[in-house]
Amino acid sequence: MKRSVLISGGGVAGLALAERLGRRGFDTTVVERAAAPRSGGYKVDVRGAAVTVLERMGLLEAARSLRTEVRRGSVVDAKGRKASSMDGDTFGGRVHDDAELLRGDLHRLLHDAAGDTAFVYGDEIRTLRDTGAGVEVEFASGTTGRYDLVVGADGLRSGVRRLAFGPDSDFLHDLGYHNAVAAVPNRLGLDREEVTYIGPGRTALVYATARQSDARAMFLWSAPGLDSRGLDRAERQRLLAETYAEEGWCVPELLADVADCDDLLFDALSQVRMGSWSSGRVVLLGDAAHCATAASGQGTSLALVGAHVLAEELSAADAIPSAAFAAYESRMRPFADANQALGPANIKRMVVGGRARVRMALTMLRVADKLPGKERMLAAMTAPIRRAANAIDLG
Ligand SMILES: Cc1cc2nc3c(=O)[nH]c(=O)nc-3n(C[C@H](O)[C@H](O)[C@H](O)COP(=O)(O)OP(=O)(O)OC[C@H]3O[C@@H](n4cnc5c(N)ncnc54)[C@H](O)[C@@H]3O)c2cc1C
Repeated sequence: MKRSVLISGGGVAGLALAERLGRRGFDTTVVERAAAPRSGGYKVDVRGAAVTVLERMGLLEAARSLRTEVRRGSVVDAKGRKASSMDGDTFGGRVHDDAELLRGDLHRLLHDAAGDTAFVYGDEIRTLRDTGAGVEVEFASGTTGRYDLVVGADGLRSGVRRLAFGPDSDFLHDLGYHNAVAAVPNRLGLDREEVTYIGPGRTALVYATARQSDARAMFLWSAPGLDSRGLDRAERQRLLAETYAEEGWCVPELLADVADCDDLLFDALSQVRMGSWSSGRVVLLGDAAHCATAASGQGTSLALVGAHVLAEELSAADAIPSAAFAAYESRMRPFADANQALGPANIKRMVVGGRARVRMALTMLRVADKLPGKERMLAAMTAPIRRAANAIDLG
């Protein structure tokens, strides 16, 4: 008889697992809290071992055709003067087949490849009861079900993790920074380009891709101890405006656009660190298990690789769940650790503290920009990302 798997969360991790398990003959259901599949969104990278996973899914060519095609990245000062400019892949730490895609495009690709999966949108798990022989589930909609296994692929603030492992406060480690992302009009007329502004403790960037007519603004700032969970959208917009009130370049215009937008992603940069990713017949995947934060640039790749490894271990012979989960974790944990370590290291480069340090960083960028072989130099600086992206052998 087919084994039944309930996956909570229809993000990259949940959809990739649905694709991987569907091919291996599992009876798979994805329950996603959002009312419909998400389109668009911000851009994400698929690097290293994750490229191999897309290849094994037969999706690499399709993914390539969905590249954002961002071809230039620049850093500017408060007056908008360019301190440094380089090609998009070097700027984003990508090589060879690595690809930058919109998150929504990757979702659609994986969703369409997930074949016979049953998708339930606009619902979520309310209770879980692991009987030893299966998991009894009650959904918020009031429906119930019984599954052989439940996978929490429901992101940083995973509902499955809360139900089966404990409260967020046991596992979330705040890195002391916040980020916000919004869709904004392309006022700078950017053509497949990204521009980053560095202020003291506050970075703002805007980019336009080949696949969206508008632009995306992203703000990353140092905010140790800030708890923004209880703030509503207007309060978040106000907090952002206050934080960036002194900044130059086109930050005031970006803030005005953010004040008008109705979809503001706003959260602390927090990592998930857990002693174990499984309990009985319940297992965690992707950000729910080991969120590395946007600063690592590797969350999407971790989700893809984790889905592949978990599916392989679950389909090995008549895998006993506890043995399959242990094998999944022992293969994935060093890879997750290596990529998580990038987050705290990268964020210090992305957000520069103090006016003097900002001046120094801009001066160094200006000097480096004039040197021959600057692209090689930057590629060397992003070598740790490439090492971490390949720190797993998929056989
Ligand atoms: C601004 C930003 C920029 C980023 N940039 C990059 C980048 O450049 N490169 C990169 O690799 N990664 C990047 N990331 C990280 C990347 O988006 C995530 O690491 C990756 O999407 C993890 O996928 P996931 O499926 O585990 O989680 P998510 O993408 O968070 O998906 C979880 C899904 O579960 C759903 N959900 C949540 N709670 C429930 C519930 N209780 N029940 C049912 N469904 C639920 C959510 O609606 C969502 O669809 C970035 C993240 C952010 C926020």
